[in-house]
Amino acid sequence: MLHLLGTRGTLPVSGQSFVKYGGNTTCLMAPVSNESCVIFDGGTGLTSLNKYTNFKEFHIFLSHLHWDHIVGMPIFHAFYNHTKSINIYLENKVEMESTDILDVLFKPPFFPVPKSKLRADIRINLIDSGEQFQFGKVGIHVADGHHPDGVLMHKIILPEKKILFTSDYEHGSEKDDFLIEFARDCDHMIFDTTYTPEEYSGEGGGMPKVGWGHSTYAHGIEFVKKAGVKNLILFHHNPDYNDIMLDEIGILARRQFKNTHVAYDGMIL
Ligand SMILES: [Zn+2]
Ligand SMILES: [Zn+2]
Repeated sequence: MLHLLGTRGTLPVSGQSFVKYGGNTTCLMAPVSNESCVIFDGGTGLTSLNKYTNFKEFHIFLSHLHWDHIVGMPIFHAFYNHTKSINIYLENKVEMESTDILDVLFKPPFFPVPKSKLRADIRINLIDSGEQFQFGKVGIHVADGHHPDGVLMHKIILPEKKILFTSDYEHGSEKDDFLIEFARDCDHMIFDTTYTPEEYSGEGGGMPKVGWGHSTYAHGIEFVKKAGVKNLILFHHNPDYNDIMLDEIGILARRQFKNTHVAYDGMIL
C-alpha cells in the first residue's frame, strides 16, 4: 500500500474550499512493517505521521529540495526521539554548501532548533540516478526527471503493484522518452499536473508557465497512453485550484483517459 499524505504542490493551503482534496504538500508513505516505513518527500503531509508512534525506522527519499518537498521535516517528531532511526536519501548532484541537509533545515534563524538538539540516529545517503533499493517488500528504482535544480523520479515496487512517482516534472525535454520507458511496467503514474493546458500555455490569459518545471493533465495522459500505464493520478495540485476546479479538471481528464484519478490527502493506492 502507498499512502498519499500530501498531494498539494508549491504551497500548503487550508479552508473550506480545499476540504475534499486537502492542502498538505508532497509526502507519500509505504509501510514496510509495523515498525518501519519508506517515505517519499517531506512536505507538510509528513507531519500527519507524528501520531503513529509505532514506527521506529524511517527511510526518507527526497525527490529534490524545493521548499514544498521538505518543509514538514523540522516538525517531524521522530527527529527529536532517541529511539528512532532515520535514513535520508537525496541525489548526489544536489548543489549545496554542505551535503548535510540537516545543516539547512535545523538552523537558526530559519528554525529555532539547531541540529545539535536532534536525538534520532540520522544518516544522510547520497544516491545516483539508476540506483535500486529494497526494504522488505518495498522496492525502489530512482531515475532523473526534468525540473529546475534537478529531481529524482521514484518507481515504487510493491508486491501487488508498481507505481511511478513523478513529481515535480516538466514535459518537453529529451527526458520524456526515458520517462515513457521507465513507466512502461507500472500500474499507476502519479504525475505533476500543476497547470491546466491553458494556464501552462498562457492561453487562459495569464503568463505562460513554460520552463517553470511543471506539467499538465494533458501531458500526463499522453505519457500514460504511450507507456501503457493503467491509471493516471493527478498530483502536485496548484494551491490556486480549489475543490471545484480540481473536480472539473478530473472530469476533463477522464474524457480523454477514463482511469484518471485526482489525488487527495489520505488516498491509498
Ligand atoms: Zn513541488
Ligand atoms: Zn520543485
